[in-house]
Amino acid sequence: MSIQMPSILDCNASNCAYNRDEKCHAIAITVGGGACPLCDTSWMSPKKGGMPDVSGGVGACKVESCQFNRSLECGAEGIHIKLHASHADCGTFKKR
Ligand code: SF4
Ligand code: SF4
Repeated sequence: MSIQMPSILDCNASNCAYNRDEKCHAIAITVGGGACPLCDTSWMSPKKGGMPDVSGGVGACKVESCQFNRSLECGAEGIHIKLHASHADCGTFKKR
């Protein structure tokens, strides 16, 4: 069985260590873990990391209240991550 990891189409958290040119370069992020559907992998830091040639995907999502969530995984084809206050949230979140 081949499983496609949902892509992170864009992310405007430019201060995150994994962000370059509004793209995520972490191999896989985890979403959820707070009151918001936040990117739990984000690290607001002047340091830059991740893999420059890699476009990030969603490895796991803990937001069961989202319509796209199936068994704690994201079932969307791709997601947008957007800054909300001082943290980054999944902008594709849709309440069940
Ligand atoms: S906030 Fe999350 S999605 Fe955005 S660059 Fe950082 S780790 Fe990637
Ligand atoms: S779209 Fe929904 S299931 Fe997918 S990462 Fe965002 S909050 Fe999680």
